[in-house]
Amino acid sequence: MKVDPAVQARLLDLAETDAELGRIEHRRRNLPELEALSELETTLRERRDAVIKAETALSDLDADSARQEKDIDSVRAREERDRKLLDSGLPGKQQTDLEHELETLHRRQSALEDDLLELMERREAVEADVKHSQAQLTATEEDIGKANERRDTALEELDTKQARRDEDREQLLGELPAELVTLYEKVRAQRGIGAAMLRAKRCGACRLELDRTALAELRDAAADQVCRCEECGAILVRTKESGL
Ligand SMILES: [Zn+2]
Repeated sequence: MKVDPAVQARLLDLAETDAELGRIEHRRRNLPELEALSELETTLRERRDAVIKAETALSDLDADSARQEKDIDSVRAREERDRKLLDSGLPGKQQTDLEHELETLHRRQSALEDDLLELMERREAVEADVKHSQAQLTATEEDIGKANERRDTALEELDTKQARRDEDREQLLGELPAELVTLYEKVRAQRGIGAAMLRAKRCGACRLELDRTALAELRDAAADQVCRCEECGAILVRTKESGL
């Protein structure tokens, strides 16, 4: 293939544009903002779980307290009934039995009330847990909001850079002969780099130093001859820096 050396040199601009597009794509996939966001999402899940756990503990305690209050009420009702019976006057044996029962009921009620008090103290502590875990969850949600903004800003910047490079690419493709572009794209698809400068006897794509035979061939080839690196296949553009 024969292409004017000045046009061949434009191929280096295309290769540089593609390299920059590759770097942009790499940055897009490895944004530190994305990693920060994924860490925050893990924290968010943990904090949601903590809220659910604390709220469940609270509702369990509420259920326990309700049961306890119901027990206290029924003991109280029984006490009241016994007291009325006692007041109505009963034969001696029944009276004594009733008095015993009242004592037992009284002790039972005290115990239940103590338990209820303890439940209420525990409830206070668990309620504080609920509030604390909810506040932590809110803080994480806010952090995620901010991290989303930072990620969006970073992506917008990359989009702008990419759009500029895409334009450059379009323009270069318009300038270069179709046959050369086809070869360039084929090599690029296979090797990642389509064209490079031969600089100081080294291929700019695979970085290998060319041997004397290869260098002699490159030196002897006509200036408009399109040459390739025998190591990596990249189109080699010869310039004054090539060391030939
Ligand atoms: Zn090479």
